[in-house]
Amino acid sequence: MTATATRVLVLNSGSSSVKYQLLDMHDGSRLAVGLVERIGEETSRLTHTALTGGGAGKRERTGPIADHEAALKAVAEELSADGLGLDSPELAAIGHRVVHGGLRFTEPTVVDDEVLAEVERLVPVAPLHNPANITGIRTARALRPDLPQVAVFDTAFHTTMPESAARYAIDVETADAHRIRRYGFHGTSHAYVSRETARLLGKAPEDVNVIVLHLGNGASASAVRGGRCVDTSMGLTPLEGLVMGTRSGDIDPAVTFHLQRVAGMSTDEIDVLLNKKSGLVGLCGDNDMREIRRRIDEGDERAQLAFDVYIHRLKKYIGAYYAVLGRVDAIAFTAGVGENAAPVREAAVAGLEELGLALDSALNDERSDDARLISAPYARVAVAVVPTDEELEIARQAFTLVSENSLD
Ligand code: AMP
Repeated sequence: MTATATRVLVLNSGSSSVKYQLLDMHDGSRLAVGLVERIGEETSRLTHTALTGGGAGKRERTGPIADHEAALKAVAEELSADGLGLDSPELAAIGHRVVHGGLRFTEPTVVDDEVLAEVERLVPVAPLHNPANITGIRTARALRPDLPQVAVFDTAFHTTMPESAARYAIDVETADAHRIRRYGFHGTSHAYVSRETARLLGKAPEDVNVIVLHLGNGASASAVRGGRCVDTSMGLTPLEGLVMGTRSGDIDPAVTFHLQRVAGMSTDEIDVLLNKKSGLVGLCGDNDMREIRRRIDEGDERAQLAFDVYIHRLKKYIGAYYAVLGRVDAIAFTAGVGENAAPVREAAVAGLEELGLALDSALNDERSDDARLISAPYARVAVAVVPTDEELEIARQAFTLVSENSLD
């Protein structure tokens, strides 16, 4: 890596999409952002926005993009058109979001054949995500074989969880034979938000205990003690824990036996029910919190029920993680719902004054894209809204790793 190489391309490869951002780690600024959607269909679309220099502006391409390789080539062309091509000596690394790193990957990792093989071995525990991530890495490697490809794992931040939190109380031999344990997800976001919360409090991450509530379409909570995760609400898969847009979160596992034996549903049908047709959408037909609030304002009882179940679960996790941490310095709300839905924040914290939690309702209602405190001045525990930035975190981790390696 040359001293002038300060750019990182971040790729988030899904099964039929690739999201990307090109960042300059000199100051963390974005040079270009974009999305390729509906890969493999006739109606694929690439939306590219250059945020720098003469090329600034949004462009769109429609028409078939056959596979991830074609998608990345199209992205490379768009970047080149703005003078930001993948052949640029300023590019230091490509950072890849990889959902499941199992127990092995506790840190961002430069990808080689052996690493790729291990990520492949984890496909059975992340069948929806890891295959697309692997395809993204392979394709990027083929385009720039000389450039470090850095995998940043969604599970890595949670590998510090103690066994008491990570183990399910099932037969140990069976669990170990099939790698069944609680891994947790959204780790890049929990890491970033817990650190930003410490910064907002003017303290070092080592000195604060934070409960992070990542409330997007997927949702998870984590308990972070002194910068290290000690518990999180997602488990073997991202289905466990909080009520989500379309996922049930915690459920008695015997519900699945019941659905099989009594309702005659197949394993695949139950999988779809719990992952796609449950949560807010299952309770009221909508998974968008804006729509649910609008319906509540019109007196819709199903929407109210969905909101109440969502909040009840959230409160239970706040209480549980309060007990796990013993001392809590801050609760941080993030992601689509956490950053934008003031009524969710208000309801989640309501009645918890005895725990030192109270909001300043004017601050809670204020709209802002900045990280901010919304707690009442007399509250013992700070409540923060911290916009998450997983791409910046991936770019930072990738850049730090390649910078350290180049000094070796
Ligand atoms: P994410 O997965 O972080 O992109 O979050 C997406 C979810 O955020 C959507 O499904 C909505 O439920 C929620 N959301 C986004 N904007 C708002 C808003 N202004 N008010 C309430 N909820 C919002």
